[in-house]
Amino acid sequence: MNTGELLSIMTARVATLEKMPTGIPTITQQDVLGAMGMINHPCASLLLRVKYAHQFDFMDDLEHCIMIYIEKLWRDNHWPRYRGSMLKLCEFLLWEHIWPRRCVSCGGIGEKTVETGKVYQCGSCKGTGVRKIHDKDRASVLEIPYTTFRRKWSPIYQELLASMDRIEAIGRGALRKRLEVEC
Ligand SMILES: [Zn+2]
Repeated sequence: MNTGELLSIMTARVATLEKMPTGIPTITQQDVLGAMGMINHPCASLLLRVKYAHQFDFMDDLEHCIMIYIEKLWRDNHWPRYRGSMLKLCEFLLWEHIWPRRCVSCGGIGEKTVETGKVYQCGSCKGTGVRKIHDKDRASVLEIPYTTFRRKWSPIYQELLASMDRIEAIGRGALRKRLEVEC
């Protein structure tokens, strides 16, 4: 069983492994949560909680944590000064990391409601709610002209996305180690 599967256990809040098919080690949701509490990287633990356990109550804490992390990364790499909202950048970065294929136009619902209350199928994703995120979307959300985003910020944004993956990997690695020790 990999950490992704373990984490998915937590998304089914009431499900315990006793109710699952036989042959699976008796690790409970409690074990996973306990091990997660011991991950030595605050962002990693929060990220796993939000992304896999859908504990969205931790979203504000996660955004705050990621913002501090990114500001440090920014300084360490001597990237050019970003004049936009760093919070907005962090919010979208997290959104993209957690839901990489969710349609930006409709938020993954597949439809849009206009002011009159009428509901239309989302043209961006043709009603599927799924669509790859492009630099055009990023520029638009961050309110930066597309050409500027492409030239100046796109490479940095890709670095930031990669750093999200690294944080997740730290969390998964630590969790796997903890559970191996305990179980
Ligand atoms: Zn859509």
